[in-house]
Amino acid sequence: MITVADAIQIVLDHTPKLEPEEIVLTEALGRILAEDIVADTDLPPFDRAQMDGYALRAEEAQQTPAQLRVVGESVAGKGWHNELQPGTVIRIMTGAPVPIGADAVQQVELTREDGDGSVVEILEPVSPGRSIVRQGSEIRAGETVLRVGEQINAGMISVLASFGYAHVAVGTRPRVSVLATGSELVSVDRRPGQDQIRDSNNYSIGAYAELAGAQVKLFPLAGDEIGLLKKQIGIAIERSDVVITSGGVSMGLYDFTKTALRELGAEILFERVALRPGKPIVFAKMPSGTLVFGLPGNPVSVAVTFNLFARSSLLRMQGANETQLTSDSAILAKALKGSGDRESYLPARLSTDSEGRAVAEPLKWGGSSDFVAFARANALIQVPTGIKLLNEGDLVRVLRLP
Ligand code: AMP
Ligand code: MG
Repeated sequence: MITVADAIQIVLDHTPKLEPEEIVLTEALGRILAEDIVADTDLPPFDRAQMDGYALRAEEAQQTPAQLRVVGESVAGKGWHNELQPGTVIRIMTGAPVPIGADAVQQVELTREDGDGSVVEILEPVSPGRSIVRQGSEIRAGETVLRVGEQINAGMISVLASFGYAHVAVGTRPRVSVLATGSELVSVDRRPGQDQIRDSNNYSIGAYAELAGAQVKLFPLAGDEIGLLKKQIGIAIERSDVVITSGGVSMGLYDFTKTALRELGAEILFERVALRPGKPIVFAKMPSGTLVFGLPGNPVSVAVTFNLFARSSLLRMQGANETQLTSDSAILAKALKGSGDRESYLPARLSTDSEGRAVAEPLKWGGSSDFVAFARANALIQVPTGIKLLNEGDLVRVLRLP
C-alpha cells in the first residue's frame, strides 16, 4: 500500500498537459490560462480625474473663496487637450483626462458656479495631486499582469478585457468518460427492483469532473460482466483523455475492473492506497495514453478518491498551478477517531465561529456509503496515519471540497 501523498505524486507524474486552445473571452471564466497576460497600455492610460469638479492649479486655490475663469470642459471619452493657463480652470468629469498645467481636481461640491458658467468660486483649498490618478500608476504597458496556470475568475475577466484579449489561450478541457460497474444498479429514471439501487456515482463523478473543468460523457451502466465491461471501457478509452469507473475494484468474485483493464493492456500504476475511505483505488495508463481511475463503488469513497486523485489529474492536464484541494487548519468541534494504518479523510462541515475562527464539525455518518450525510460536507478532515483519537478543540487540517 502506498501513502496518499505518494499516490498523488504518481498521478501528477503520469498526467500529460494537453495542447492549449484559443477561446473567446466570453468562454474564459473558470479556465486555466495557457499564456502570460501582458498589459498593452498604461493604466490609467492618461492622468484621470477621480471626481466631478474643476481641474485647476492647486496654488491658485489656497486662499478661498478663489474666483477662477472656466475655459473648457473635459468629459470621459472627450478630453480638453490644451494647456491650462494661470487663472483658469476647466470643468471636468470623473474618468476624463486632466489637462497639462492642472495639478488637482476640486470636487464640485466644494465649488459654486456663477450664472452663465464663465466663472467658478472654489470654496475650499485643495492640495496638489488631489483627485487625480496618474497615468501608469496602476499598471505600466508591458507588465505581466496574470500568469500561465492561473484559473480565470470573474475579476480576471475584466483584466483580460481591459488589455484587449478578445481571445485567450487556455488549457484544453479534458474529455472524460464516466462508467459505473455493478449488476445491482439501475438508471436514475427507473424504480429499483429487488436487490437493486439507483446509480448515483456516474452523476456525482460527472458533476465533480465538470467542476474540475472536464467535458463529461456518461456511459450506459456496464453491470459486472467482464465482456461488456471490457467492451465499454475499450470504447471509452478511444474517445477520452481520462476514463473514470466506479465499483468493481475490491476483492469480490465479481470485481472485474482491474481484470478488464489488464486485458486491455493497462499499466497499473497503483491499486491500493493507505486511505480511509477509499483504499482500493486503481490508477492506470492505457497503451493509447488514456488515463483510467478505477474508483471504489461506495459513493463517499468516490467523492474522496475523485477529489484527491482524479481532480488533480484533470487540473494538471489543463496546466493549472493549483491542482490540490485548498488546505486550511480548523478547530475540531467534536472528538474523532483515526485509523491506525491509514490516513483518514472524513466528511465535515467547515464554518466560522463567533470569534472568526474556522471550526470543523465532523458529519455524523454511517460509513462510506452514507452519501446523504455527505451531501452537506464542504470539507474533509485529514487524520494522519497512527493517530487513534483527535479531541474536541484540537487543531486539525482540513481540505475544502469544491
Ligand atoms: P463495489 O466497490 O462494487 O463493491 O461497491 C461498493 C458499494 O457501493 C456497494 O454497496 C454498491 O452497491 C455501491 N455502489 C457501487 N456502484 C454504485 C453506483 N454507481 N451508485 C451508487 N452506489 C454504488
Ligand atoms: Mg460492485
